[in-house]
Amino acid sequence: MTPVVGVLALQGDVREHLAALDACGVRSVAVRRPVELDTVEALVLPGGESTTMSRLLETFELLEPVRARIAAGMPAYGSCAGMILLAREVLDGRPDQQQLGGLDVVVRRNAFGRQVDSFETDLTVDGVSGGPMRAVFIRAPWVESTGPAVQVLATVPRLTLAGSDAGPAAGRAVAVRQGAVLATSFHPELTGDGRLHALFCDMVRETAAAA
Ligand code: GLN
Repeated sequence: MTPVVGVLALQGDVREHLAALDACGVRSVAVRRPVELDTVEALVLPGGESTTMSRLLETFELLEPVRARIAAGMPAYGSCAGMILLAREVLDGRPDQQQLGGLDVVVRRNAFGRQVDSFETDLTVDGVSGGPMRAVFIRAPWVESTGPAVQVLATVPRLTLAGSDAGPAAGRAVAVRQGAVLATSFHPELTGDGRLHALFCDMVRETAAAA
């Protein structure tokens, strides 16, 4: 059976994720309401603005249902703002910002600072074969610390693509996995490289097969 994977469609780069999921052979649907959430086996939390998404999750009465599904083992993938939503704790967030949980990590929002606000680099990601991925960072978070169950899949190299020193960003974790939950600080949905979505779709199929 073809898995059905939702994309939280309250704000952010929803269309790009829907397209990337279709390309890896699952059926993608936009999720805006609890009844739509009930139809999906897995959920992608897109890049965008985590504080806005947090507010809209409450308005659309999705915060508790999504939290409950993730706690019950639903596979989830968050890019950038989506990573922030999945984190146990956010530094430099808004005090009223809500977390979905699922990832035992502390993330720092807008971590890369003004100088390297948005940048690209090539990243080697564990679990992604075929060479490094071009990673696009846009006012991205990094992972400040991880709990014991969290696997770090990628860290920032010392030099960015432009050849400048990554400074305090060097070595920071920017792709992590905990069980069926995956998160990246960067946006594979924006580059046309489908390998990260393919990894997530494999995780979704494995979870379905194990159920
Ligand atoms: N800075 C954004 C936030 O705090 C994330 C940016 C992004 O998703 N590109 O949610």
